[in-house]
Amino acid sequence: MPEFAVPFHWRNFRKRYSLIGSRCPVCGRYFYPERHICPVCKRTVKIEEVMFSGKGKVFTYTVVRVPPEGFKIYAPYIVAIIELEEGAKITGQVVDCDPGEIKIGMPVEAVFRKIRSEHESGIVLYGTKFKPAK
Ligand SMILES: [Zn+2]
Repeated sequence: MPEFAVPFHWRNFRKRYSLIGSRCPVCGRYFYPERHICPVCKRTVKIEEVMFSGKGKVFTYTVVRVPPEGFKIYAPYIVAIIELEEGAKITGQVVDCDPGEIKIGMPVEAVFRKIRSEHESGIVLYGTKFKPAK
């Protein structure tokens, strides 16, 4: 599947730019990406769409030193699983942070940055990244 095809991005545009997930009204858990069936309650519930604050902390991370094609100019870079304030976890790149300075538990906040350029199509992709919170 061509992950970076244009229709994919149109469909996901709003979610990518505003960090929208969902919340189960039964147990109150938050999910990102959004879910329509709560995996905890094990039944179909009307999931509320919620916008996350973007604040969270580093749950775990890895430093990528040998990146895939298209990401070479960013190496080395940090990819972390961020535990959002609301409890959902999201994978994202951590920017404005030296790979030697990131720590588990470090507070971070979401920022919108360029993810990569599609050289052939001219499409520039933006998405959620995280930076150390002040
Ligand atoms: Zn639930």
